[in-house]
Amino acid sequence: MDNEIKPAEVANDVVVSMEYTLTVDGAIVDSSDEDGPLEFLQGHGNIISGLEKALYGMKTGENKRVVVGPAEGYGDYDPKAVMDVPRREFPREIPLKPGVELEVTDQDGDTQFARIVSVGKDEVKLDFNHPLAGKTLHFEITIGDLRIASSEELAHGHVHAHGHGHSHGDDEEEDFYLDDADEEDLDEDEDLLYEDIEDDDYYDEDEFDDEDED
Ligand code: ZN
Repeated sequence: MDNEIKPAEVANDVVVSMEYTLTVDGAIVDSSDEDGPLEFLQGHGNIISGLEKALYGMKTGENKRVVVGPAEGYGDYDPKAVMDVPRREFPREIPLKPGVELEVTDQDGDTQFARIVSVGKDEVKLDFNHPLAGKTLHFEITIGDLRIASSEELAHGHVHAHGHGHSHGDDEEEDFYLDDADEEDLDEDEDLLYEDIEDDDYYDEDEFDDEDED
C-alpha cells in the first residue's frame, strides 16, 4: 500500500529503519552494511538508551553522529562479572584457550555469553562482561523508512517482520540491542552448559584473537 500514512519523524511508537556504523576505539565493530538496516520500535528500549534518545525528531534521510558513553551504552566494565570455573565442568570439545567465546546456559535456560580470559591448572577464568562494556560507542546513523507500528507490535514492545505475525527467536536481537540477561542470576553452584561459539560473530573484535603458539 503506497497510500499508508507515514510518521513525519522519529517519535515514540514509530518503527524506525536505520543504517548505522558503530566504531569503537577507532575500529568499526558493527555496521548495517553486513545485515541491512536495523528496524526497531522507538521508545521501547529496543536499542541502547543513549542512541534511542538521540533519534527523536529525526526525519527520513537525515544522518547524525552520536557518541554514547558506557552509562547509556553497555554499562561499565564489572570486575565482579569475572569468575573462575573448574576445568572439569567444560565439555571436552571446547578448546580451553584465552579468547575463546562461549555461550553459557544455566538451569533456567538463560543464556549468557562469556569469554575465556585465562586457563589455569584447575580453573578457567571466564568474563561475562559484554565485550563493549566500558566502551564509548561512536555511531554514524542514517534514518531510513518510518512507519506506524501495528497494535500487536505495540503490545509486544518490539518490531515483527512486516509489521504482523510473530517470529520470536533468540537471533532476533541485533548486536547492540539491550541484553536483558541478568548477571546476578548466575550462581556458581548451578550446572552450567557451555557451548563453543567461536564461529559466531558476537565477539568480532581483533583484541580477542589469540596467537596459537603451542
Ligand atoms: Zn512479539
